[in-house]
Amino acid sequence: MTDHPDNDKTLAAIMDKVGINKKLQEYIQCSSTLHSYPAPGLLIGAIMVDYALELLGATPEDKLFTVCETPKCLPDAIQAIAHCTTGNKRLQVLPIGKFAITMNLSSKEPAVDAVRVFIDLQKLEKYKTINTWFINSPLFIKQTMAVPLQEEIITAGRNILSFEWVKVKTAQKTKWNSVICPECGDMVPDYMLENNKCAACGSKGYYEKIY
Ligand SMILES: [Zn+2]
Repeated sequence: MTDHPDNDKTLAAIMDKVGINKKLQEYIQCSSTLHSYPAPGLLIGAIMVDYALELLGATPEDKLFTVCETPKCLPDAIQAIAHCTTGNKRLQVLPIGKFAITMNLSSKEPAVDAVRVFIDLQKLEKYKTINTWFINSPLFIKQTMAVPLQEEIITAGRNILSFEWVKVKTAQKTKWNSVICPECGDMVPDYMLENNKCAACGSKGYYEKIY
């Protein structure tokens, strides 16, 4: 499933040993494939998405929307399992820095009930290896602790998570027109202009022309 065969074998053995259900094993596998390896945050992410789906009474076949509060690892579990992607605009990644997701089913109402699943720091205290890794402690030694960390994550499952019900605004379709940027001459949607220029000629410029 990834280009880390030893890691895959170890992870599969851990999942079998702990006896996690087939569906969650599949979620973990498809997330790892998308991410390119079974990172710790990704494993926790797969467990979080599985939990959120169950709380919503939803399946990956439903039209779901998710907000992810960190750009690290977690967005890939959401994309692989729940098919909320940045491309279909059903995934919003907010640079907040919390390991949390908020998921809801599609709704025509302006606001909808959603479930927010997050790592619970109090519950994490019982899981020393995960805690050491999660708080970015210098005591976490990747070389010797990576496999024990995987095992502890799979064993802990939902026991390190909590959830709350929240209300979120639903995305409304907005009308837009295409406009030409006066500086570069490229076409962009009008709502993306900043100070009458395209964002690439403004705050999001990321390249210099070389010829
Ligand atoms: Zn421009």
